[in-house]
Amino acid sequence: MKSITLLFLAPFFLFAQTRIAIVGGGMAGVSALYHLQEYDKEAKITLFEKEAVLGGNATTVAIKNTKGEICTVDAGPQYFADQAWEDYLDFIEKTIGKEEIKYESVGGSLVIRQVYEENAIIATPLNGKMRGEKLGNLLKFKKLNEEAHRLYKEADKHSGLTIEAWVASLNFDEDYKQQIVYPFLGSSLGVSVHDIRKMSAVDIVKLFAFRKPKMSDKFHIMQEGMGTIIQKIGASVKNPNVTIHTSALVHDVLLKENTYLVTYHKNGKSVTEEFDFVIMAVHANTAAKILASDLAFKSISNTLKTFPYFEAKIVIHNDDSFVHHKKPAFLNIFTDKEHNIVSSTMNLDLISPRLKGIYKSWMNTEDAEKVRKQNKLLYETVFYHPMITVEFVENLKILHHQIDNFAPNFCIIGGWSEGLETQNSAVLSGKRALEIYKRFKQQH
Ligand SMILES: Cc1cc2nc3c(=O)[nH]c(=O)nc-3n(C[C@H](O)[C@H](O)[C@H](O)COP(=O)(O)OP(=O)(O)OC[C@H]3O[C@@H](n4cnc5c(N)ncnc54)[C@H](O)[C@@H]3O)c2cc1C
Repeated sequence: MKSITLLFLAPFFLFAQTRIAIVGGGMAGVSALYHLQEYDKEAKITLFEKEAVLGGNATTVAIKNTKGEICTVDAGPQYFADQAWEDYLDFIEKTIGKEEIKYESVGGSLVIRQVYEENAIIATPLNGKMRGEKLGNLLKFKKLNEEAHRLYKEADKHSGLTIEAWVASLNFDEDYKQQIVYPFLGSSLGVSVHDIRKMSAVDIVKLFAFRKPKMSDKFHIMQEGMGTIIQKIGASVKNPNVTIHTSALVHDVLLKENTYLVTYHKNGKSVTEEFDFVIMAVHANTAAKILASDLAFKSISNTLKTFPYFEAKIVIHNDDSFVHHKKPAFLNIFTDKEHNIVSSTMNLDLISPRLKGIYKSWMNTEDAEKVRKQNKLLYETVFYHPMITVEFVENLKILHHQIDNFAPNFCIIGGWSEGLETQNSAVLSGKRALEIYKRFKQQH
């Protein structure tokens, strides 16, 4: 009799579990997955990732160094620094353990020069050591960083300020602005000088001005790659109520009274499942497409469509003509006669002997083709970056407001949804999903 009662009640208990769908397995989705399952061990959580592995933008690739040894390189995000990445580091420590965090460091040095010219317009010291750089230029560069740090500290007072308006307010001569300031700002985000002008000043300086300028600032690179770390975090979740579906492309999400129907394609089949809580952890324009099938999401979709993205071609190669030999620097920017950015190259060689002769560039198709023809191309891919313009930041406020008023069991996260795209902001957005989930659980 007892077993019959249990059998009868089982479906009820199964149903009573909150069914959560997370769409997207980049850092934001994985952060949401970890934090929600820690909070509610009983919830049945399914994460959908269209690619075969977790990681999203964080794509670690295995390539051969000049000695023929296989080594890991991040094609997407690759660096973090001591400040502004605290949540990221804390999250990794909590999930896979402090001992797993093995990183190498490099000084944040810079060389800007016109294509094919040997003379660098500016070179900052490497690891604090001067190498005949022009003192006047160095002082100006220090001043630029101080101004950026000041803006970062006073961000609240300057919302709505474009990079163009901020640069106009700086007390530098026009040549310095064109030759140094714009190429440096553009390449810190991988955009053209034209596009960086429209971006939100307070949001862009967050990428490099989070600490007081020092000559020996260091950036850190994960030895096994940021992408590998995300895959490890996914594997560290041992909760039997969690399912991670890779190679599962979510096609649409429909509202069904108070629940959602999520349809995904996996192994050539289309499957629809019902969920009580949905977390979208994909780019804004992807979320807009997934939600477009249901009119209930119309205004949210319309706002999502307003967020602009740009394409960035990343090439990993061993063509050393992209870096300066006499004044080696981590970041090497090539500009044309009009001071537009032609390419921007990270000299990975400076990080560690394992990365000897390996460079990572944002470059145009023409240059990529030249590198390929010389047999020096090791890996190439294209990423889509959000353009954090002033309108982007304004529309983000509108989006958050629309979602708050839409339903308590729905949220949209992602590095971009915090107004700054880093691995750290992606982790934070996952924590934000937990706060929304907690509110939902308190109401139900
Ligand atoms: C070239 C480049 C360099 C960068 N450098 C740095 C850096 O040095 N340091 C740093 O901290 N940050 C850096 N960033 C930013 C950082 O990569 C992002 O902020 C972060 O990875 C965003 O994570 P996310 O989870 O929000 O998005 P994503 O990583 O884009 O994850 C979204 C996921 O959703 C999946 N998906 C999309 N559509 C669907 C669908 N229909 N169904 C199922 N799954 C779907 C995607 O495959 C992807 O895995 C860089 C970004 C780029 C592109």
